[in-house]
Amino acid sequence: MKHERHTVDCEPAHPGYVSAFLRIAGDECAFVECYTTHALPHLLAALEAHGKKPEQVRYVVVTHAHLDHAGGASALMKACPNATLLAHPRAARHLVAPEKLVSSATAVYGEETFRRTYGTIEPIPEARVRTLGEGETFALGASTLRVFHTEGHARHHFVVHDPDTRTVYTGDTFGLVYPRLQRGGTFAFASTSPTDFDASAAYASIDKVLSLGEPTASPTHFGDVTNVEEVAAQVRRFIARSEELVVREAATTASVADIQARIESDLRVVFDDAAKAAGLLLDAEDWASLTLDLTLNAQGLAFAADKRRKAS
Ligand SMILES: [Zn+2]
Repeated sequence: MKHERHTVDCEPAHPGYVSAFLRIAGDECAFVECYTTHALPHLLAALEAHGKKPEQVRYVVVTHAHLDHAGGASALMKACPNATLLAHPRAARHLVAPEKLVSSATAVYGEETFRRTYGTIEPIPEARVRTLGEGETFALGASTLRVFHTEGHARHHFVVHDPDTRTVYTGDTFGLVYPRLQRGGTFAFASTSPTDFDASAAYASIDKVLSLGEPTASPTHFGDVTNVEEVAAQVRRFIARSEELVVREAATTASVADIQARIESDLRVVFDDAAKAAGLLLDAEDWASLTLDLTLNAQGLAFAADKRRKAS
């Protein structure tokens, strides 16, 4: 039995930003992650390049329901007629009935940008969806893969352990590790995008990934990382700094917009410090490439601070 794992760049126009993974076990294939509908031609091209047909795709696996991971699932499922979608129970709900996903993203981005960015998202028939509980497995060829629920980034998130290729597909649980930012040494940071940021759950999820003892982690952003201990340490530090900002802002009466603006400017310092410590000098192009992550991270932390002060 031949085990293969290939990283597919889902948006070659913006290389090294979002990956999906094509896993081949003998005659059977699975995709882990699928970005938006715009990734479809690249995913199908990867199949063809490795001598496989869409009919051989047995599973489409999404780590969570965020649209840069699962937005393309309905289109990919249409193209792969024998595939079953595997998802966290809380994520599956949104993919079977995507109205809420679509309307909340449309509210954030506006109709036109939403359509341009994410394409069309259709409901996936419930009969083609299987949810996976904590520790549940699925078989691909002679391989057995297992999922572990990992909160902290999103409450609908799991990671996928793939022992035969010695990796864990970590979604957004184990940080973002962009290839373009690895010029100094390792440079990894956490995604705290809305709306489920939870520092203690995020630490526990990182520990869960490490406890699997694999030499590789495959974060969706991006590809494979082999220095897992260092990535974990950097992501933990980033979460700690993020949590400090949430605690500070939860004690204020400022508007959510003001909180977000303050956090975003503080996050620039956090990024700059972390980059310097990693031997990386962020240039203008790096900052441009980080704009969306900075905004989303600040948005998620401002949301968390506001939620916390309302609860107290
Ligand atoms: Zn996410």
